[in-house]
Amino acid sequence: CGIAGVFGDKDAANLVYLSLYALQHRGQEGAGIACSDRHIIRVEKGLGLVADIFKKHTLERLPGDIAIGHNRYSTSGESLLKNTQPIVADINLGQVALVHNGNIVNAEKLRDDLVRDGSIFTSTSDSEIVIHLMAKSGKDNLIDAIISSVSKLKGAFSLIFMTKDMLIGLRDPNGFRPLILGKIRSGHVLVSETCALDLIDAEFIREIDPGEMVIIKDDGLQSIRPFENVNPTPCIFEFIYFARPDSRIFGKSVYEVRKSFGMKLAEESPVDADVVIPVPDSGVVATLGYSEYSKISYAMGLIRNHYVGRTFIEPAQSIRHFGVKLKLNAVRSVIEGKRVVVVDDSIVRGTTSRKIVKMLKEAGAKEVHMRISSPPTCYPCFYGIDTPTRSELIASNHTIEEIRKYITADSLAYLSLEGMHECVKPFSFCDACFSGKYPTLHKDGLGINPKS
Ligand code: 5GP
Ligand code: SF4
Ligand code: MG
Repeated sequence: CGIAGVFGDKDAANLVYLSLYALQHRGQEGAGIACSDRHIIRVEKGLGLVADIFKKHTLERLPGDIAIGHNRYSTSGESLLKNTQPIVADINLGQVALVHNGNIVNAEKLRDDLVRDGSIFTSTSDSEIVIHLMAKSGKDNLIDAIISSVSKLKGAFSLIFMTKDMLIGLRDPNGFRPLILGKIRSGHVLVSETCALDLIDAEFIREIDPGEMVIIKDDGLQSIRPFENVNPTPCIFEFIYFARPDSRIFGKSVYEVRKSFGMKLAEESPVDADVVIPVPDSGVVATLGYSEYSKISYAMGLIRNHYVGRTFIEPAQSIRHFGVKLKLNAVRSVIEGKRVVVVDDSIVRGTTSRKIVKMLKEAGAKEVHMRISSPPTCYPCFYGIDTPTRSELIASNHTIEEIRKYITADSLAYLSLEGMHECVKPFSFCDACFSGKYPTLHKDGLGINPKS
């Protein structure tokens, strides 16, 4: 998901709207904005893309100088209007709204306990738990209620809360998901990625640290550390695929890291070829790195249709065989008679790669060499990236040679785990979807979600 918050600017809802627009790649299922005029918190939400949900009149219904917003990408709970955020609630301590990026791994247990205790849930999203825990905390102020609530959570949670007169941002102690602090005119902003700061002309101040909570009020900004200290493990897949390349997160430029993955891949798995092409858009920056290191010339051998969206109406079964062709098409003049290296960021089920190789061969490629700028995805993510179950991940139950045969490539190579980590030195990162080493996996089994 993508999240944003603004404090102390009369255009708060508009600035959050623009931030969500810049963060659209982090979730396309739905979006919402809540805004406080210091008396009440109002909220507008919908299903679909930010620009389709929010119109001039929608934003005009959100007066005030404190706002938060959310782009939904569902990893827990269904894709329904009731699961869109912000979640706004009236609890005994006052009105509060929240937005969440991540996935709470002990959600089932917490929810069962709350329901047994009489809580009535209005959604199937894991984020609603945070509000119920606050309401039941027995604390006499909202900050203590938030601390008490989030202390019970395990897993990934970059959260932004809003009350009538405060904005609060925090990251879980592992810091799985990013959260950036910026300054705008007289106010402060919190956003998932710096690309949102650039759009609204906000100045980057710093990242919220893993395990840090910042409280922004009229009298300034306060930072506290309510969690037990653990070794931070931000999500390395943000660099591989999820974040936008023009953002800086986790202390690094996404573009530079992604490019270095491609360079490392070229170093580890070279191939004699005439041209190297990306699978757009996710493979583009790694391909630039592959080309630079290997000296094989870069070309756009696949063109993406940017208008393929969720509103696409599937035609009759009899003509529904085009699959990936709807999204991608080969450029024959680039491909014909050539030995082609094609770079993508990851293989999940293998269906896309298989169709791409077929498409390139049909466009006249002499050889097709698939290169993947991350290690084999063998394990599901429980921290906010939507991966299928283990049995559906092709690399979890097939060797690289078996995958190569399945996708019908002349060769296939992935970036090594060590090579990947070398590109993000000196920091440590979560790599569980590649290694199976879940950073929050404790003796009590947390980290393994039985539903996945
Ligand atoms: P496959 O056909 O192997 O299942 O899918 C591989 C493609 O999915 C790659 O091109 C990769 O960029 C893309 N991909 C990887 N992770 C995600 C994700 O979390 N969401 C979406 N929408 N695409 C992803
Ligand atoms: Fe990121 Fe993979 Fe860890 Fe999930 S399991 S947080 S996708 S590195
Ligand atoms: Mg892709």
